[in-house]
Amino acid sequence: MNIILLGPPGAGKGTQAQRLVDNHGMKQLSTGDMLRAAVKNETPTGLKVKAIMEAGELVSDEIVSALISDELASMGPETGAIFDGYPRTAAQAHALDQILEAHGRTLDKVIELEVDEDALVDRITGRFTCASCGTGYHDRHKLPKVEGVCDVCGGTEFKRRPDDNEETVRTRMQEYRSKTAPILPIYEERGIVSRVDGMASMDEVTSSIEALLA
Ligand code: ADP
Ligand code: ZN
Repeated sequence: MNIILLGPPGAGKGTQAQRLVDNHGMKQLSTGDMLRAAVKNETPTGLKVKAIMEAGELVSDEIVSALISDELASMGPETGAIFDGYPRTAAQAHALDQILEAHGRTLDKVIELEVDEDALVDRITGRFTCASCGTGYHDRHKLPKVEGVCDVCGGTEFKRRPDDNEETVRTRMQEYRSKTAPILPIYEERGIVSRVDGMASMDEVTSSIEALLA
């Protein structure tokens, strides 16, 4: 299985992708995670994309498609791929077709998470994660049980993404509307798009996605 999770920033693509990894042994290919790792490690790519990401704009199609291609090349053919945050432009969608073909893979499904934009800004601007284990929290919806201590690992350091501020979130939404949403028709023509209500609880969203993959 090779699937794309599509949806605006904060729709929950990363959370759902992680659950598919846990439940099905698929691999999550998140260009956002790959780029954040590049920034953290100060690689040449990281240095190039840092300011663009902080502004909430899209990095070049060439950079992200190369990341995806390298990642797929390192995977065994039996491992399914979950594309999370890629493709985000028509050029990336076409590049993905070629990359998949080169690896003898076909795209099975595109799952669109549908969400209300005001809810997204609220979700994103409050989120933070444990610096040691990555567990996600939220200022208004999910604080640790003991203030300042991770429920899962007891860690006391937390981090926030530098692009999770309101102004940058608005730019990310705008990029999604103008460049990413328009690629849906490419996949609709192939009859492989399914929609899931991303405003439901995380568990309900997971069940809906599982039902689509069954
Ligand atoms: P989001 O929560 O906005 O879905 P991601 O973690 O997927 O965030 O991406 C964070 C940032 O990384 C984007 O705002 C963009 O700058 C860059 N990025 C990630 N994936 C891509 C991509 N496929 N094409 C261009 N830029 C990307
Ligand atoms: Zn933790």
